Formats: sequence, C-alpha cells, structure tokens
Amino acid sequence: MLEGCTPFPEEFKREYICRGYWKDQTLGELLQQTAWAFPERAAVTDQSRTLTYSEWNLLSDRLALHLLDHGFKSGDIVLLQVPNIWEFNVLLFALLKIGVLPVMCLFQHRHTELSYFAMLTEARGYFFAPQFRKFDYLTMGKELQAEIPTLEYLVAVGDGSATGVSYMGPWLEMPLEDRYPSDYLAKFRPDPFDVAFFLVSGGTTGIPKLIPRTHAEYIYDAQENVKVLGWDSNTVPLIVLPAAHNAPLGQPGLVGTVAVGGRTVMCSSTDPESFFESVERHKATYVTLSPAMLINLLNSPARRKYDLRSLRYMYMAGQKMLAETVEQTWAEWPSLILGQAFGMAEGLSNKTRPDDPKEVIRDTQGRPVSPADEIRIVDNDDKDVPPGEVGELITRGPYTVRGYYKAEEHNRVAFTTDGFYRTGDMVRMHPTGNLVVEGRRKDMINRGGEKISAEEVENLILGHEGVYMTAVVAMPDPVMGERTCAFIVPKPGHDLTLEALNEFLMEKRIAKFKLPERLEVVPSFPLTGVGKIAKKDLRDQIANKLRAEGKLGAVR
Ligand code: AMP
Repeated sequence: MLEGCTPFPEEFKREYICRGYWKDQTLGELLQQTAWAFPERAAVTDQSRTLTYSEWNLLSDRLALHLLDHGFKSGDIVLLQVPNIWEFNVLLFALLKIGVLPVMCLFQHRHTELSYFAMLTEARGYFFAPQFRKFDYLTMGKELQAEIPTLEYLVAVGDGSATGVSYMGPWLEMPLEDRYPSDYLAKFRPDPFDVAFFLVSGGTTGIPKLIPRTHAEYIYDAQENVKVLGWDSNTVPLIVLPAAHNAPLGQPGLVGTVAVGGRTVMCSSTDPESFFESVERHKATYVTLSPAMLINLLNSPARRKYDLRSLRYMYMAGQKMLAETVEQTWAEWPSLILGQAFGMAEGLSNKTRPDDPKEVIRDTQGRPVSPADEIRIVDNDDKDVPPGEVGELITRGPYTVRGYYKAEEHNRVAFTTDGFYRTGDMVRMHPTGNLVVEGRRKDMINRGGEKISAEEVENLILGHEGVYMTAVVAMPDPVMGERTCAFIVPKPGHDLTLEALNEFLMEKRIAKFKLPERLEVVPSFPLTGVGKIAKKDLRDQIANKLRAEGKLGAVR
C-alpha cells in the first residue's frame, strides 16, 4: 500500500475479498465495463454537453494517454479542483485509469489549504478550472507553483493560452489512441486494493487530514449504497453538492451511477432556481442535499414554477436535518421519498431506508448500509453504553479507512488499537436499530455541511497582533445549522471588529467558509475544572444571546 497509509490487516483484507465485498476491479474498469454494456446510453450531462458512456470512457482514455505523454506517471499525486462540470468526470477517470492519485480539493479551498496538501503529498500537478464563482484559480495555481518545487504541471480544463499552463480542451479533441495499441493503458492499471484518491476531512485538529480511499473499497461503498436505494439504469442523480465531497462522489453518487449505468447530471450552481430548472430539464430522479440547501429550496418562490415530478428521492447529508424541516418538505412535496444520510469521508455510510416508517425517517439518521459495518457506541473508557444511551460512535468495516495519510500521531488518537475509527459523533441507538445523532465530541463547526476545525481558525486568529486569547465555537443558525463565532480576549489597548478580523484572516488565503461570522470580545474566558477554556459555556452564551436577539427562528 502507498507509503504513509495504514493498510487493512491481512486477515480483514482476506475476509473482505473472500466474502466478495472487495473485487479485483479498479474504478477505471468500472467505467469501462459500463461503457461496454451500455455504450450509447447518456452518462453525464451538464449545462453545456452530454456524454454517452462510450464517449466518457473514450475521452478519459484519451486524456490518460495525453497525461502520460506529458510526463505524468502512475503513483503521482495531484491536486484536483474542478467544479461540477462534465470535465470533472472525464478528468477524474483519466487519472484513476493510470493510477495518478488526485487529492479531491473543494472549490472553496484557497492557497493555504492547497499548498498544505501539495507539500504533504509532494503533488506534481494542479488540475483546475481557471475561473469559477469569480475566483481566479489560474493565478492561484501560478502562485502555488512558484512556491512548491514539486508542482511541475498546471493543467486547466477548457481552452486557453496562458503560458506554463496545459489545457485539457485541445487534448480531448486530439485522438491519441490511434497511436497506441488498444491494450496500452492496461500497463498502467493500478492495484485495486491500493489508494485511488484522497478525500479531504474537515479536520478537528489544526490541519485538514487527507483520507486515502482505495478502488475496491470505494466501489463496494457505492454499491452498498446503490442497493439500499434501489438504483438502476433509469436513475438520474443530480450532483449539486461539490462532487469532491464523499456523498455526491460515492455514497452512491457518481461512482454508484456508473455502477448501475445511470445518468449523472452535474450542476455547478446551488441557486434554487437553477436547481429546479435542472431537475425539470434533465428529469432528475434523485438528489443529495445538505439541510441548508433544502431550506433554501423550501423558501424559494421558484419552487412552484417548475415541473419536479421526476424527482423521486431526496436525501439529506452532512448535517442533521431537523424534524420541522422534514415535515415541511413532506408538506411541500408529498410524493417525495425523503431520507437522511449520516456518512463520513472516512467511510461509514448510514441511511434511512426508503421503506422505513415515516417517523423513523424524520427522527433518525439511518443505519449502516453494509451488513459488514461494525458499529459500537462507547463511553469515555471505550466501553459499550447500555442500549439507548448516548455515547461516541466508533466504527470499522470494509470501506472505513484505518488511518489518515501521513498522520501517524493523529491516527493513534483517531483510531482505536483494534482499528475502529472514532467518529467524534455522539449518537444513540433508536429502538429500530437506526442511529440518532445527538451531538459531537470533536471540536468543529458544521456550517451547512462544510466542516471547520475550530483549532485551525483559532491558530490563525492568534496570529493577529491584537489578540491575547481566542476560542472559536459553533453558534446555532436556522439555515446553516451552525455558523462560526470567535470569542476573543484582546491585548490591552487593542480594539477589534469582525470586519478587521476577517480582513486579516483573508490575507491568510483560506476558504471563505471558515471565516467567523460573529465576534464576541470578552475580558476573560470561563474555565473548566482542569483549567481549559469552557467552550460549552461559550456555546451556551452565544446561543442565549442570539435567542434574546430573536435571531434563531426555528432553531431549538
Ligand atoms: P464529512 O466527512 O465532511 O462528510 O463529515 C462527516 C461528519 O459530518 C460526521 O462525522 C458528522 O459529524 C457530520 N454528519 C454527516 N451527516 C450527518 C447527519 N445526517 N447528521 C448529523 N451529522 C452528520
């Protein structure tokens, strides 16, 4: 296995193979197989183009050949930061076919996150869309390249003429496959039991962690999710969450769609009107959303303008959906099959089942998709709590990783000695066997499904000359679920405003969703019995203040 990764112990690997969970198949072969079975079927659609399975497969082969021609090698690691457009699909599978390992960056990531990923992985290339949502990724790419010696290649989607940048557009037009034997790419076939790509964890400690996912386990993950949802070749998922996230990528997501020969609709706008318009135009049947996005849809006047009858399934992921939102959704779209998904980029996927009783769908976050998922709910001493009581969810199984990339020290706390991943989520078992998420132990903010490490933001704030101490906590929000509040004890003689603080933080070139949305300047912090900052008290303080200000609406 790739150096820096924690392999599954041999006995588990053998068992997962013998039981047929892991197959000797790469993600590239999954696409190839579907393209052979359904060559003419529409496979990917976005605003500008539709590709059939044979076109998708051919273009990813072609691009893979161009990448090899330009010096990429199996085992290279690259950064991939492309929004939900058809090129994402082609590029991802081109890389997967030749064993070039992408780090699945979010489009919101900026210089600081990307340079960290590039340094950690010694990335050789940066693949990007030059412009998206008014941000200039090309300039960022050049700046990164100037700083990071390993970053040899900048590869942009589309056409262009910037110096030092290769463009995918002309490569996709130029058939290179005629020059090679038809089995040429087979030489570069990656090991299905080795790393295919890295997902990015929201992170609970200072720096985001990279999660190495292998071909075999990722295919298994997607296929178990497919079974739970009963997907088939008529399924048309609309991918509107960033495709680099685990839920839209593989639970069942894009990979699940390939597995069944369905059609993926790539939607790069989260604006409610374009969402409704895309559902109508492409006759989407399934969508995974964050609860925050769902609330925006429910509040949008455009929701009655479009024909949404094709949409049969709507699953909520990334964050807990309040019972009120569930009821409101059923009232608005009574024929919709609504579901809750409680998954994580580290692996485990829980889902309510389409045929679960309505109150179970409303009140729980689902149960594991695979019979081989092992879950335990434990107390502080890793002892199982009595049934129905709240404890931390820990898990292992055929698609839950055994360690983060190059993070030996952190792995010792994030995983038990027998390989269970400590999710940091506080859950209880519902009498039906489904899980109910009650809170979390990890120190992060879940802003509409995007995770923010409190420690990461605190470390940045501490760099400000006027800050003596800081504590970053989640504050409740009726739409986003949570937003970030920074408590600060200033140094004597320093005044600080939220604007000035955020101006300072933006200079650190971080993803904008990490910026605090409220600043509370205080003379001192409440402390716990052992002298740590009592964050719970700070969370209560800000929640009470927001309630008193009448800003919480439906939030309990
Ligand atoms: P990510 O790896 O970004 O998908 O984040 C995974 C984490 O998101 C989980 O460990 C939970 O803390 C949180 N999460 C995901 N889905 C849900 C859900 N349905 N309800 C509550 N928390 C969730």
